[in-house]
Amino acid sequence: MSTVLKNAHAKGDDAIREIDPAEACARQRASALLIDVREDHERAGGMPAGAIGLARAEVPLRIGEIAGDFAQEILTICGTGRRSLLAARTLHEMGYANVASVRGGFARWRAEGLPIAYGEVDANAAERYARHLTLPEVGLAGQQRFRNARVALVGAGGLGSPAALYLAAAGVGTLSLVDDDRVERSNLQRQVLHADARVGMRKTESARVSLNALNPDVRVELRDERLCAANVEALVRDHHVVIDGSDNFPTRYLLDAACRRLGIPLVYGAVHRFTGQVSVFDARRDDSPCYRCLFAEPPSADEAPNCSEAGVLGVLPGVIGLLQATEAIKLVLGIGDTLVGRLLCFDALAARFCELRLPRDPACPGCGAAAVFKGYEDIAQICAG
Ligand SMILES: [Zn+2]
Repeated sequence: MSTVLKNAHAKGDDAIREIDPAEACARQRASALLIDVREDHERAGGMPAGAIGLARAEVPLRIGEIAGDFAQEILTICGTGRRSLLAARTLHEMGYANVASVRGGFARWRAEGLPIAYGEVDANAAERYARHLTLPEVGLAGQQRFRNARVALVGAGGLGSPAALYLAAAGVGTLSLVDDDRVERSNLQRQVLHADARVGMRKTESARVSLNALNPDVRVELRDERLCAANVEALVRDHHVVIDGSDNFPTRYLLDAACRRLGIPLVYGAVHRFTGQVSVFDARRDDSPCYRCLFAEPPSADEAPNCSEAGVLGVLPGVIGLLQATEAIKLVLGIGDTLVGRLLCFDALAARFCELRLPRDPACPGCGAAAVFKGYEDIAQICAG
């Protein structure tokens, strides 16, 4: 089974032996040391059972702690068999006489059904989140952050649908859905959480069916309530991020006030006909504007777009809701630059994004120096036409 291959990177006459995973497994059972030289986050998704995890850069520094005897047989394995060859060469040059690299790496080890051990994530999670675990910016630590995260989604409609689906897919541990509507057939053109067979069902319940079908590990908490002055704090408290998927001004002003008071980042999104906009109001940051820096006071009835009759291109809330989900995910992980201080606008017909600077307004009635909180206020639902 074992063959001697000339390593393309080899200097002089040195050749590093490559062996198949099955042979490596057998030799490991005998007495060979199997060293997985991938990075920590890569090994989080599983590694050969009994292997020792030691990233390639650490091999020359720490191999002595593991193998004090230069005669010890050492096998190296990585993702596909390239890095392990380099690691094996390093060991060989250090004086280890009996080294070999596993051909095809862990990809082939797994494909051949050889035994795999999982660290802090179970086999199911390692498989489900494999593409996250291999991203250094997410990795095992990020996946644990997702699992511990509580995200509130206000509105299980056009914006909430894609946001909820992707947050559930990402492994966000708890999603709280706030919506008191029932599914109507006219929703289905854009509210892809729901289904024709569930017309008439509560949206929160319908959403739970879809979300748990996608990822049974997500806890979906249902709040069949209309968000109002009396309940807004209770609904959003104890969440790490709030996503505004509402379609009306009263809810937006209430959410803004509550998130500001409770210090919870609010991911704002809105759509109208063929255009949409997204931003993040993060009350934890001194430089962050709030919703009222953008719209100081609710519009008058004349200015307000007609909520139900203006129409919206079905895919548009998909685009905007996913941008909201993207911001929420970054906020949970603490990576990247969020849209704090920026209003991202999308014009579907022109296929154009544009970005407006959205600085904090010192005279803002919500967050300005002179702003006074007089309690939550239920402003009348205004809807022109
Ligand atoms: Zn403000």
